[in-house]
Amino acid sequence: MFRQTKAVLQKLRHLSFNGQQHTWRLKSTSAERALQYQPGQKIHGFTVKEVVAVPDLFLTAVKLTHDKTGAQYLHAAREDSNNLFSVQFRTTPMDSTGVPHILEHTVLCGSEKYPCRDPFFKMLNRSLSTFMNAFTASDYTMYPFSTQNGKDFQNLLSVYLDAVFFPCLREQDFWQEGWRLENENPTDPSSPLVFKGVVFNEMKGAFSDNESLYAQHLQNKLYPDHTYSVVSGGEPLAIPDLTWEQLKQFHATHYHPSNARFFTYGDLPLEQHLKQIEEEALSKFERIDPNTEVPPQPHWSSPREDHVTCSPDALAPDPSRQNTLCVSYLLGDITDTFEGFTLSLLSSLMISGPNSPFYKALIEPKMGTDFSSVVGYDGSTKEASFSIGLQGMAEEDTERVKEIISQTIDDIIASGFEEERIEALLHKIEIQMKHQSTNFGLSLASYIASSWNHDGNPVQLLQISNSVAKFRQTLTENPRFLQDKVKQYFKENTHRLTLSMSPDEAYLEKQAQAEEEKLQKKIQALSDSDKKEIYEKGLELLAAQSKTQDTSCLPALKVSDIEPTIPITPVQISTAGGVPVQYCEQPTNGLVYFRAMCSLNTLPEDLRLYVPLFCSVITRMGSGGLDYRQQAQQMELRTGGMSVSTQVIPDSTQLDMYEQGILLSSSCLDRNLPHMFQLWSDIFNSPHFDDEERLRVLVMSSAQELANGISYSGHTYAMTRACRHLTPAGDLQESFSGMEQVKFMKRIAEMPDLSQVIRTLPRIKKHLLNPDNMRCAVNATPQKLSDTATQLESFIRDIADNRKERKPVRPNITERPLDPLDDCGPCRKLISELNFQPCQMKTFFKMPFPINFVSESIRTVPFSHEDNASLCILARMMTAKFLHGEIREKGGAYGGGAKMGGGGLFSFYSYRDPNSVQTLSAFRKGVDWAKSGQFTQQDIDEAKLSVFSAVDSPVAPANKGMSRFLSGVTDEMKQRHRERLFAVTHENLVDVAQRYLSIGQRTCGVAILGPDNETINKDPSWIVK
Ligand SMILES: [Zn+2]
Repeated sequence: MFRQTKAVLQKLRHLSFNGQQHTWRLKSTSAERALQYQPGQKIHGFTVKEVVAVPDLFLTAVKLTHDKTGAQYLHAAREDSNNLFSVQFRTTPMDSTGVPHILEHTVLCGSEKYPCRDPFFKMLNRSLSTFMNAFTASDYTMYPFSTQNGKDFQNLLSVYLDAVFFPCLREQDFWQEGWRLENENPTDPSSPLVFKGVVFNEMKGAFSDNESLYAQHLQNKLYPDHTYSVVSGGEPLAIPDLTWEQLKQFHATHYHPSNARFFTYGDLPLEQHLKQIEEEALSKFERIDPNTEVPPQPHWSSPREDHVTCSPDALAPDPSRQNTLCVSYLLGDITDTFEGFTLSLLSSLMISGPNSPFYKALIEPKMGTDFSSVVGYDGSTKEASFSIGLQGMAEEDTERVKEIISQTIDDIIASGFEEERIEALLHKIEIQMKHQSTNFGLSLASYIASSWNHDGNPVQLLQISNSVAKFRQTLTENPRFLQDKVKQYFKENTHRLTLSMSPDEAYLEKQAQAEEEKLQKKIQALSDSDKKEIYEKGLELLAAQSKTQDTSCLPALKVSDIEPTIPITPVQISTAGGVPVQYCEQPTNGLVYFRAMCSLNTLPEDLRLYVPLFCSVITRMGSGGLDYRQQAQQMELRTGGMSVSTQVIPDSTQLDMYEQGILLSSSCLDRNLPHMFQLWSDIFNSPHFDDEERLRVLVMSSAQELANGISYSGHTYAMTRACRHLTPAGDLQESFSGMEQVKFMKRIAEMPDLSQVIRTLPRIKKHLLNPDNMRCAVNATPQKLSDTATQLESFIRDIADNRKERKPVRPNITERPLDPLDDCGPCRKLISELNFQPCQMKTFFKMPFPINFVSESIRTVPFSHEDNASLCILARMMTAKFLHGEIREKGGAYGGGAKMGGGGLFSFYSYRDPNSVQTLSAFRKGVDWAKSGQFTQQDIDEAKLSVFSAVDSPVAPANKGMSRFLSGVTDEMKQRHRERLFAVTHENLVDVAQRYLSIGQRTCGVAILGPDNETINKDPSWIVK
C-alpha cells in the first residue's frame, strides 16, 4: 500500500494532548509491572534506556536499544489485549522509481523460512489478527500487525521478521509486484507487449485521484532538494526504470536493524518479544551506518509559484470551477515536540470549524467548493508544513484568493484568537484521549512514526500533558505567543509555495501518450531473442501463479484455538417518556454515549433522496438561540461531536424486509450531559433551515466530498449499484449512498437557487424528528446510568411537541420486539415488500480515471437462514484460494474478492483493476472452482479462522450492544450463527455454490465504474451512464 501520510496523521493528530493533569492511578497492571524496569538493565541483547509512566494514556513507555546493531525499540505497556507490533525502516529514495514501495510489496512474496508466495495474505487465513498491513510513506516503510491471541502474536512476529530481514526477493517477484513487459495475452506471443505489474497499476490508480496528485506535487515542490522531491510510491512512467539489482541493493542498505525502529504495545510481556526478535533476526546482523538521514531543506530567500494540470472531473459540483490553489509554508523540525504541538494547535485554530478565520474568509464567501484536501499542519516530513487553500474554484479568482490568504494572516496577527476557542480545542482533546478506541496501539504507532523516524523522542510525544502545561504557561507569560508564531512562520516566511492546479481536457490522452512512448522506447531496444525471452518469462510467471502453493511452512492457529462462545453483553430495555431506551453499562472512562434511531417510514417517497443532505446539515445550521457559529462552538466546548447518518437495516430473517431511518449519535463528558441534551432539544424544536448562504456552503462541500470519494472507494459504489435491483434494502442503499446520491448532490450543487431545498428540509424534519418514531440507546458507566435516565426523561419531555401520529407511506409494516423475550414490549417497525421483484441489470458508469471497479452481486439468503454461514465461509475461501490469484496476481488489479453482505447479498468485486468485463469471467471461474470442490479441509479451516477474526474483532465500549439496538441481532442469534460457522463442511460449500451462485440459479446484478469501454459500448445488454 502507498500511503500519503497526510490523511492518516490528520486523524491521529487528535490523539494529541490533554488539558488536565490526572492523578496517576495504577489502573493497569501491565503498565505497573513495566515500571519495574531500570535504565541500564540488559534484556536479551537490549539495554533499557528510559522508563516513563504516561498516566494520561494509562501506559508505561520503555525505551531500549539493541547493543550489537543499534536497533531502536519502544514498548508501551498497557492493559489492552489487542497487542500490536510494528517495525519501521527509514526509506529515503532519491528517484521516483517507487523502489521503497515495490520493495514493500516484494518482501511479502516469500522469505527464507517461509518461502511461499504472499505469506502476509496467507497468514490472514491462519491467524486471528485484528490488523495486518504494510505501507510506504514518503520517508519510512512500516509493517504493523495486531492480535488478541498470544500464540498468534508469536506466529505473526516470526513471519514479519523473516519477511523484512530475510526476504527471497526473487526476480519473478519483482516482475509480478513491480513492473514487467509482457505480451498482453501471455499465451499469445503475437499479442502486443504491454507494461504490467501490481505497483505500476496501483500508482496509476492512485494518481487518477486529483487530490492525491495535488498533494504529491505540493510536497515534491515545497521540498525540492532531497528525498521529498521524488515519489516514494512510484511515478508510473518512472517505475519501468527500476532494475531488480537496484531493488536488492535498496533492501540491503535500508532494511537493516541499524536502520530499524521496533514498537510493541499491549499486555503481553516485553521479555518474550525481545527474546524472539533477538533470536530470529537481530543476532544475525552486525551494525552498519545506514546513512539514511534527511538533511534540512535549504530555505528559499523568496517565495515561489508553480502550476500543474490534472484530468477534468465529470462529477465536479460545478464544472466551470475545478481549480485548486494552496499556499504552503515550510515550518520547523518535527523532532521539536513542543513546537510541533503548538503549530498543530495553531493550525486547528486557523482552519477548523465555522469559527476559524480561514473558514470565514475562504469558505463562506464560496470562492471554492471546499478547502483543498491538503490544508493544515502536516508533520509527516522532517520539517513540517502548513498549507491553506481551496479546491473547486474558478481560475479568475486566483489573485483574489491569494490576497484573502495574506489578508487573513495579517488579521490573525492583529487580533489573535478568542480564549473560548482555545478552551474548546483543549476540551476536544480531553475527550479524544478518554474515548476508548479498539485500535489504540496502531494509532500510537502511527502517531510517533514520523518524529521517531528522524530521531525525535517518541516518549516525549506521548507525554501530552507536559506540552499542554507548557503551552498554558507560555500563553500566560506572553498573550501574543500564538500571534508571534503566525508572524514568524507565515508572514515573514519566505520559504512558501503557491501551487495552482487546473484541469486539462487532454490530460488523460497525454498521459496515455507518454506511457505509449515509454513503452515503444523499451520495445525498440529489444532484440528478437529478448522478445522470445519475455514471452517465455511471461509463461513461467503464469505457470508459477497457477501452481498450487504449499503453505505448510507457515505457522497457523487451529479452529480449536477460536473461542467457542461469545461473551454476552447485557443490556436493559426500558422507556423514557414513552420512548424505548436501551441501556448498556460499560467502562467508558467518564464519557456518555447517546444514540437515537428515528424511523423514516412516514416520509413521502419523493423526499427520500434528500435524507442524506438533511443528515449532513441538521447539526450544522444553528438551532434555538444559537446561530451556526455559536452552535459549533457549543458542540466543541460541551460534546465529543454530534452527527446524524442514514440507516438501511436489512432484516435478519427476510430478504425483502428492512428498517429505514436516521441515527443521531453523540458523546460528552458526564458533567456536560444537560448541555448535550439541550443542544439536541434545540435541533428538534427549532432548527434553522433558512440561511441559504450557509446551506450552499454545506451543499458544495458535501458534493465535493462525494465526488472525491469515488476514485478511492469505487468498489463500494460498484457493489452498491450491483445490489440495487436485488432487494428493497439494496434499492434504498443506492439512493442514500450510491452513484444515484452522488449525481443527485451534484444536481443540487448546480442549482442557482436553493429555496426549493430550503422548503423541503422542514418537511423532512417533521417526519424524522418525531419522538413517536424514535428509540434511544445509552452507553455509560454504571454510576452514571440513573442520572442519564433522568436527564433523558426530561429531554423527551422537552421535545414532546414534535410528536405527531402519522401514517406510514408503505402499507406493509411488520413489528419486531426490541427485546425478543418480550413480545409486548417496544417494537421496531420494518417495511416488508414481499412482492418485490428482483431483476437483472448491468450498469456501466463512464469515469474519468484509467482503471476499473467491477462488481457482481447475487441474491442469496438472510442472516438467520441455515445456509448463510456456509456462504460467509465460501466468500472468504474463494477470495483467498482463487479470486486473489486471478484478479490481483494474474489480472494486475490492486485487489479483488467476494463477500457475503449483511442483507443476504453475495458480492464479487475488484479494486483498481486494469480489466473490466474479463474480471466478470474471473468471478464466474471462481464459482466453477467452488462447485468443483477442489479445495481441502485446510482451506476451509483457514477461511473459518479468517471469518472469525472479523467476527471477533474488538468492539469499543461506546459501541457495545449497538448491533442489537440497530438490527435486533441478539447475542443468542450471534451464537447460533457462530455454531453454524464452526459446523460448515466441504459438502455444504459445494452445495451452496451450486444452489446459489450458479448462473440462472438466482438473480444477479452487475456494475462497472471505469474509462470509456468499447466492448461494453457495443453490447446492448449494458446500460451505460
Ligand atoms: Zn502498494
